[in-house]
Amino acid sequence: MIGSRQQHDAALPPGTTGVIRIDLDRLAANWRVLAALGRPAECAAVVKADAYGLGAIRCIPALATAGCGTFFVARLEEAIEVRALAPDAVIYVLDGLLPGAEHVYSRIRARPVLSSLEEVLAFAAFGRATGSRPAAALHICSGLNRLGLPETDVLTLSQEPGRLAQIDLQLIMSHLASADAGDDPRNAQQLATFQSLRSKLPVAPASLAASDGMMLGPAYYCDLTRPGYALYGGQPSGSLRTPVDPVVTVHARVLQVRDIAVGASVGYSGIWTAARPSRIATIAAGYADGIPRSGSAPNGCENGAVAFSGILAPVVGRVSMDLITIDVTDLEPETCQPGDWAELIGPTITLEEAGRRAGTIGYEILTRLSRRFYRMYSGGG
Ligand SMILES: *Cc1c(COP(=O)(O)O)cnc(C)c1O
Repeated sequence: MIGSRQQHDAALPPGTTGVIRIDLDRLAANWRVLAALGRPAECAAVVKADAYGLGAIRCIPALATAGCGTFFVARLEEAIEVRALAPDAVIYVLDGLLPGAEHVYSRIRARPVLSSLEEVLAFAAFGRATGSRPAAALHICSGLNRLGLPETDVLTLSQEPGRLAQIDLQLIMSHLASADAGDDPRNAQQLATFQSLRSKLPVAPASLAASDGMMLGPAYYCDLTRPGYALYGGQPSGSLRTPVDPVVTVHARVLQVRDIAVGASVGYSGIWTAARPSRIATIAAGYADGIPRSGSAPNGCENGAVAFSGILAPVVGRVSMDLITIDVTDLEPETCQPGDWAELIGPTITLEEAGRRAGTIGYEILTRLSRRFYRMYSGGG
């Protein structure tokens, strides 16, 4: 158990002040649970943003070994990395086709998620020019109004099917706007829109649900589910528990503990002033590590916090680039000493709680944890 003063982890390089622990067996188990939940639909894994900041280089082989054969990324660069790690996998790139990128898709055998008539035209032209029928997905918009073909463009394709003739259409997908709210009527509306638009296109497997969409029930599974956040132990739904376990803990070291008098202020601009004699722990994690500055206190709402031996202690003063300051006055002195580890994410502070305390969501907390944290992996064969 991390937190005791004498704890010294021989696996950490000397001088390490922040560590992210990633349990690859849990990651694989979460994929298996979600795959079983969605069956007979296939379960892909969304591994964009370096597997949500946890390290694609370790997470992708663990997911592939668990049986995952389809990966989604956002950027073409990310697809190049996935291909090197999963030689046989199907890879989709959500950004779609940018001009001149056709040859890269062909070289790494990845599939663009085509999002406009222009992209369809360009990819079909590439097929004709190379005497091939390249594989792709088609993203249709069912209400999110972010990416994807609007209804008028879907109708164009249905009236002029020749536009798709040179493309090997492997997937038709859309994305839900409000799936984190299980009772939002817009979910059923989007599902109906998706099914109706899809029926106008050539027959191809369909995909609609990300992590939260999977909690809306079998109607949303279609042929392929696309969870990301839940694989990494996140709870995406505001109302329903996703049957996954945490994968990640984050700890940072206490550098100093000091006693301050009533009226003394802490940190930049002195926004927090001690109303009682206080003990302040200075921790080696700041906004350059991905700790949101919005967790500073006071900030008009709930402030950031860390935990020692399962007990919460609040951030006081500004979150700075490399450091946060914590009010540990109410803790037993022996639970927080220089060299000890503060829990930033773990059994006491979930990703969701850390997000809420900074006025954001667990997704942002997870994906912004910076390279300054040492990443330590367990499991994964
Ligand atoms: C990021 C993303 C996903 C995965 O979402 P999670 O909420 O992390 O499961 C699925 N589909 C699309 C289009 C995405 O952008």
